[in-house]
Amino acid sequence: MSKRMPFIAGNWKMNKLRGEAANLVQAILPTVSQTDSSEVAVCPPFTSLGIVANLVKDTKLGLGAQNCHPEDSGAFTGETSPPMLKDIGCQYVIVGHSERRKYFNETEEFINNKILKLYEHDLKPILCVGETLEQRESGILKEVVETQVRGGLASVPEEKMRLTVIAYEPVWAIGTGKTATPQQAQEMHAFIRTILTDLYNMDLAQSVRIQYGGSVKPGNVKELMSQEDIDGALVGGASLKPDQFIPIIGFQS
Ligand code: PEP
Repeated sequence: MSKRMPFIAGNWKMNKLRGEAANLVQAILPTVSQTDSSEVAVCPPFTSLGIVANLVKDTKLGLGAQNCHPEDSGAFTGETSPPMLKDIGCQYVIVGHSERRKYFNETEEFINNKILKLYEHDLKPILCVGETLEQRESGILKEVVETQVRGGLASVPEEKMRLTVIAYEPVWAIGTGKTATPQQAQEMHAFIRTILTDLYNMDLAQSVRIQYGGSVKPGNVKELMSQEDIDGALVGGASLKPDQFIPIIGFQS
């Protein structure tokens, strides 16, 4: 078990109409309000941020967005800026999710620009990193993850890094039902901490929370969370169902 406060975040992706989002939040709120052993947040689609923000106000359930643009405002049709997300009540923003890297060709520089802009608005990034199956099998997984960590965090000062969360999400485990073994995940989390030690220092590296993401379910959460360097989970599919997300919050099967 890690020394850091575990952080469980639900990434709802492009799911839930506003009424469904409200029902889901209402179903998990009683458990979240009784949970002191971990921090919990949900990341609904943009259209449900408003309704969820009203429901989570003055509760222990945090609110995150799934993406942002790196500019404050301007002619970027269809985009949403960090000050807009702050204004609606977000505390966190997921950045660099593998689906955005893959389908929207997001580069390390673009991701880094978003992260730097988020700090200006007092928002905390959840930086997602992770290798594809092909990259793992060809033995370059560590190079890939190191490039993503160093690229995403370029020019991030230590005091802002302390607000930042990293999510290690092996792409081959996302939405596939395949989970990294606790040992595979632990190895990569420890590796990410060595990169943070090199970029900053040991104290900082030990304080940053590194979530695991990739088919986290009630049946595997406990063993994953028992690893020394795993500090919570970024949960996709299972965060859409209260009967799965609630046990995950309590690290129970
Ligand atoms: C994710 O999208 O961040 C994720 C981990 O999804 P899933 O839990 O469905 O694999």
